[in-house]
Amino acid sequence: MKHEFKLGTTARGSAGAAALAALLLAGPALAASDSDSQAGDSGDDQSPHLAVSHSDFDKTPDGKQVEKYHLTNRNGMSVDIITFGARVQAIDLPDKNGNVADIALGADKVKPYIDNEGTYFGAIIGRYGNRIANGQFKLDGKTYKLPKNNGPNTLHGGPKSWDQQVWAAHQLDTGNAVGVELTHFSPDGQNGFPGNMAVTVRYTLDNDNDLRIHYSAVSDKDTVINLTNHTYFNLAGAGNGTILDQVAMINADQFTPIDKTLIPTGKLKSVSGTPMDFTTPTPIGAHIKEDNTQLKRAEPKKGGYDFNWVLDSKGDLAKLAARVSDPKSGRTVEMYTTEPGVQFYTSNFLDGTFPGTNGKKYAHWGGFTLEAQHYPDSPNQSNFPSTELKAGQKYSQTTIYKFLPE
Ligand code: BGC
Repeated sequence: MKHEFKLGTTARGSAGAAALAALLLAGPALAASDSDSQAGDSGDDQSPHLAVSHSDFDKTPDGKQVEKYHLTNRNGMSVDIITFGARVQAIDLPDKNGNVADIALGADKVKPYIDNEGTYFGAIIGRYGNRIANGQFKLDGKTYKLPKNNGPNTLHGGPKSWDQQVWAAHQLDTGNAVGVELTHFSPDGQNGFPGNMAVTVRYTLDNDNDLRIHYSAVSDKDTVINLTNHTYFNLAGAGNGTILDQVAMINADQFTPIDKTLIPTGKLKSVSGTPMDFTTPTPIGAHIKEDNTQLKRAEPKKGGYDFNWVLDSKGDLAKLAARVSDPKSGRTVEMYTTEPGVQFYTSNFLDGTFPGTNGKKYAHWGGFTLEAQHYPDSPNQSNFPSTELKAGQKYSQTTIYKFLPE
């Protein structure tokens, strides 16, 4: 397999990427359906009301069609994924009384996502989630230089990265879940990273309210990779105030403290006695305004969370990694992941100016992310779990967001 991965220029379009990804990344068996089929109509009694359909969402300024995939289940939950940045655009979830709200921050056109690139609403982040210090790293004795888009550092793969591309997509229907598979091809040297890379991301929704994201990728040169999803949740409903009263639990005794440019110092620090202690359920706002050096580094004016926690679930998909609940609505999200870390970020830069879905305004602290990931700046931190991907080796990640009430 390793030696067969040679890419010619013909493979560089999105169709080439899709073919390459299909060839190289055939993962867990999932049936693809090209038509707007409904699992509930296919005679599968186990999964009534599971359905997937797609429609036109919008066009990019250069005329590329962006599609929206709509996944629904029997609990009245639905998820919308758009092909621009392979983003979660909306998640409709009933509360304990059955009132449905969209709990994912997003927009109803492509333009706000382009004009506000730094928000990364709902996007798949690649090639490298979070920061790489000074926009460079060494691999196999060679120094790679990346464009800097966050002070002295490279953030989320650098400018105009995967979140700004239109991905190829087709819908999936397994009988027990419905979804969409998205593929993207990133050429050798894109934003300075080595290796032609084909990536596949599968979102599936089932009747247990599990939104499962499976990532796979392969490169033809040794490289680094750290993929994540950047959905901001507000369990009271996107645009419905702040998330400060929502209660978080992070299964982590340690976090990776940061320097002034938000690069990990390299130490793992105990959360005990710090505002980073979410080992027991704690309102997000309980300590966010404290005069704490780390909180101020994350957000100098008002304070905020923007750190990587060292998960005690240790890559075990069966163990709870994090949970956030909204006591008022009863809506809850749990995260399970094969990744060793999570970036818990409280949308510290939002200021109500982003043109949100249906005219919604997103306040400072108006959402939180749970970005399952390897630790930031791992390519420069030899004591962190490695993010190196050898040529021909398969990168794989699964992260599940489970929503309650079911
Ligand atoms: C980072 C923040 C950054 C944000 C951009 C998060 O993943 O940790 O520092 O501002 O993404 O939207």
